[in-house]
Amino acid sequence: MNAFQRQLAQQCGIKEAALAEISEIEGRYAAAYARVDEMTNTAQLRILAAFQAENVGDFHLHGSTGYGYGDIGRDKLEEVWARVFQAESALVRSNIVSGTHAIATVLSALLGSGDELLSISGMPYDTLQTIIGESGDDPQSLKALGVRHRVVPLTADGDFDDQAVLAAIGPQTKVISIQRSRGYLWRPSLSIEKIRRITSLIRDRFADIIIFVDNCYGEFVEEEEPLAAGADIIAGSLIKNPGGALAPRGGYIAGREDLVRRAATRLTAPGIAFEVGSALDFNRPAFQGLFMAPLIVQQALKGAIFASAMLENRGFAVSPGPADRRTDIIQAIRFGAEAPLLAFAEGIQAASPLESYVHPEAAFLPGYEDAVIMAGGTFTQGSSIELSIDAPLRAPYIGYMQGGLSYAHVVYAVTLACQRLEA
Ligand SMILES: *Cc1c(COP(=O)(O)O)cnc(C)c1O
Repeated sequence: MNAFQRQLAQQCGIKEAALAEISEIEGRYAAAYARVDEMTNTAQLRILAAFQAENVGDFHLHGSTGYGYGDIGRDKLEEVWARVFQAESALVRSNIVSGTHAIATVLSALLGSGDELLSISGMPYDTLQTIIGESGDDPQSLKALGVRHRVVPLTADGDFDDQAVLAAIGPQTKVISIQRSRGYLWRPSLSIEKIRRITSLIRDRFADIIIFVDNCYGEFVEEEEPLAAGADIIAGSLIKNPGGALAPRGGYIAGREDLVRRAATRLTAPGIAFEVGSALDFNRPAFQGLFMAPLIVQQALKGAIFASAMLENRGFAVSPGPADRRTDIIQAIRFGAEAPLLAFAEGIQAASPLESYVHPEAAFLPGYEDAVIMAGGTFTQGSSIELSIDAPLRAPYIGYMQGGLSYAHVVYAVTLACQRLEA
């Protein structure tokens, strides 16, 4: 037993058998852990190079008030962001209130009455179904505004269905939407390699179609981002991967200049697009968060490998498996029944730095179909780059765990939560 393990055992109530298991897991999956290091090191250097190429200085960390005209920090942040994501242009704003808002801004900027949106990675994430009008009856959903939506499911092994995608594209198809991450679904996340293959197939035949990627949870998990693989525009949340757990809110949109400009116009108003929006005190945490993001993603990914292994040891189906190649930070665990899911979620909550004393309860949240249990005490409300587990309460009771600011914390939390499964 090393000093960390002794502490785990003595202070935290972790049993000796679990300590042996921790070491065993780390040894058995050393190659998977090493692959994470390689990816995140690459991302770190790419981000550092972008800061240097853009000559970021201390004065860029300060923000403006009011209209925000000439907010050089805000503008510089967007230039750095564009460079990191290999985009012509980026919109990175604290007043993009969430990932859902970022995606809704893109879709509603690009689609109008008579246009068709084609989702080619199956039914999109829960909150997007509300935007699109697949669930709920909001009079401002895309559907209500005259946009048609069709879905091409993934193949049984979780890949794009090339022929079905090509066959589904029609004269009204304006935007193709891809969700990189699994979201709340039991399917593998889509690799950059697969995204590259499908975008090039589509491009060869339909040059004008706009390819959009929901990049939530995928940032810095692989060596490249979707724009480098042929996508036109991407969007995501700053309280997930690219905010590095320091950005207190915000979202981003990046890609082709004309498309990002339309999204900016949609976010603000015609004529003012990128030019307004005071950053207040957002620039410093957003810059630092981006710089720190690969480190945080690394901790989260290693934690996910660990969780995958420990839960697999207890007989639960896990996706991805501990040795699998990862393309997002989510670890799905199929608990099969409500009781073990709730026990595990309670364990994660009890092991959190904040609100370890509260009992998580399932609740209906805006934009979601089923009651959802969300556990995790995070420094930023709802942040899912910090350790958290979410689960819609529906069979087969799959928990989606993600995030973790430090690997040691994830090991501790998952181990304690697993002990509750045996209780
Ligand atoms: C989190 C997420 C969203 C929505 O982001 P919020 O910030 O929660 O609104 C959209 N798509 C996917 C795949 C996500 O994981």
